[in-house]
Amino acid sequence: MLSLGAAGCAAVDKAHSIVGHAAAAGPELTVANGYIPDGQSVSPFANDVPAIAKLDPDLRAAIQRAARDAAADGVQMGINSGWRSKRLQQNLLDEAIRKYGSKQEAGKWVNTPDKSSHVLGKAVDVGPTDADSWLSQHGNDYGLCQTYNNEMWHYELAVAPGDTCPQPLAPDGI
Ligand SMILES: [Zn+2]
Repeated sequence: MLSLGAAGCAAVDKAHSIVGHAAAAGPELTVANGYIPDGQSVSPFANDVPAIAKLDPDLRAAIQRAARDAAADGVQMGINSGWRSKRLQQNLLDEAIRKYGSKQEAGKWVNTPDKSSHVLGKAVDVGPTDADSWLSQHGNDYGLCQTYNNEMWHYELAVAPGDTCPQPLAPDGI
């Protein structure tokens, strides 16, 4: 687990720089499209913010339960990205392709609008790192699992509460 954490930290920096670059341009980068600026997060309880409001209700309930229990352990949980519109997802993908120079490399970090679980409201990117670590230990109690092995912050509802999470997958594009 320790080596996964170390790899995850490098990956966080990489992914944040994608979004940071995207922040420079695009009419899609609005709260209504689910955009949360780089370096910011919203509370999992911000039910009036589209990134949270348009999540699958079961996922939203699970992450809110987890956030409450994490807070009781002294860990503040924030959502760096939740539901995203297709337009926002396309914007992020375009920026990633510009940054990495190929669709294949960009695809390791940003999915297409048709495939992204964020567009379906079925994924949340959780931060900061101590909240990710808390979820890696306790997430399965809420049915929440890390689904990609290069994204320690990306969680989906993947098992029945209490069941063991499957091994995270290598991302699409690799
Ligand atoms: Zn994600």
